[in-house]
Amino acid sequence: MKDDISIVGAGPAGLTAAIVLAGHGLKVRVYDMSPDVGHRLNGDFQGLENWSSEKDITELLRQIGIRINFLCVPYTCGIVYAPGRGPAKVDSGRPIFYLVKRGPLQGTLDAGLKEQALAAGVEIIFNRRFDGPDEVTGSTIIATGPKGVDMAALGVTFETNAEDRAIVAFGDDVAPKGYSYLLIHKGYGTLATVLFGGYRKGSECFENMLRFYGERVHIDMKHEQRFTSYGNFFISDTLVQDRRLYIGEAAGFQDFLWGFGMRYAVMSGYWAARSLIDGTDYDMLWKRELKPALETSLVNRYLFERAGNAGYRYLTGRFAGGNPCGFLRKHYNYSFLKHLFLFFAKRSYSGKFIFQAPGREGASHGMCRRSMKYTTHL
Ligand SMILES: Cc1cc2nc3c(=O)[nH]c(=O)nc-3n(C[C@H](O)[C@H](O)[C@H](O)COP(=O)(O)OP(=O)(O)OC[C@H]3O[C@@H](n4cnc5c(N)ncnc54)[C@H](O)[C@@H]3O)c2cc1C
Repeated sequence: MKDDISIVGAGPAGLTAAIVLAGHGLKVRVYDMSPDVGHRLNGDFQGLENWSSEKDITELLRQIGIRINFLCVPYTCGIVYAPGRGPAKVDSGRPIFYLVKRGPLQGTLDAGLKEQALAAGVEIIFNRRFDGPDEVTGSTIIATGPKGVDMAALGVTFETNAEDRAIVAFGDDVAPKGYSYLLIHKGYGTLATVLFGGYRKGSECFENMLRFYGERVHIDMKHEQRFTSYGNFFISDTLVQDRRLYIGEAAGFQDFLWGFGMRYAVMSGYWAARSLIDGTDYDMLWKRELKPALETSLVNRYLFERAGNAGYRYLTGRFAGGNPCGFLRKHYNYSFLKHLFLFFAKRSYSGKFIFQAPGREGASHGMCRRSMKYTTHL
């Protein structure tokens, strides 16, 4: 008979693992340090990317046993800005991403997954924090989200009368080595800048972003709620320690290029669950199923950081040139050329992203935490 399984962390990674395991008749208990799901998030809109696989992400979710019982709106078009060029209209034959809402409230991805987990018989215990491996015994999945800061986000959620839209803007004065985005759906919006460096300039970038969008689109904002948040990226050699399997951002699973971590969270939860159900080696599974894309995203970041404004303009041109999903799929998936760059990318990020053990803080944590503290006064 198989053991009961403990999962620490009720984010998308932990809850997906719980739903899949309970669906196979296993007894699962999930612990989370917060009073409810989604407390790390801010009621903000995020994008479930739909370009890295041929199969639509909603179909993929259904296939692994996740129902779409949360807000999940396809976006097929938008506007992209890059320094030194006008707005580029992006139009796609298939959804580029699905807009989802994060946080504890009804309709969010987090609340939807919680509802599915409870319906499958999972026990969820809130307000229970785990501080070390000694606190859990038996088969355990660690899904505690980011522990270090390799990417910082400063944003604002708001109510508005403006129409639905998606806008992305590149530019180091607004989002050093990252990007900013505006998402509006049915009178609610999120405007945020995602920084992959220059954290000390966080508040300045946020103000620049407000000015940038204010000059280009009229958005009336009511009931604004500002937020800061962060992401953790690393590649580990093993994600199994004793009988603990690491998944989601606690395992470093993130899209190094732009931080689209939700797909990794869900899929790593699924593969960890499969390993416990089938007795297959989890390290073998994630290395086969997730590592090639993870490494490709590291190479993408390496190239993106070197390309500067010319790179931003090139990308914008390609998005606007038709078939943005096809273009992105090509760049998000393994290719021999990308593999050649992997050596340089790993060397460049060695010590920062490469072969960190799960559970450790990111290299930039201290510096970024100081700047985040400052920016929470925005
Ligand atoms: C501002 C922002 C915008 C983003 N936008 C996108 C986007 O557009 N698209 C996308 O795909 N991704 C996006 N991401 C990334 C995405 O949100 C994450 O990759 C994803 O939520 C990771 O899921 P997770 O389950 O691993 O961790 P989390 O969602 O962080 O969940 C971890 C859970 O573990 C709990 N926990 C932590 N420590 C402990 C402990 N010691 N004991 C008990 N419980 C604990 C926490 O309370 C939390 O509930 C964004 C992230 C940020 C910050």
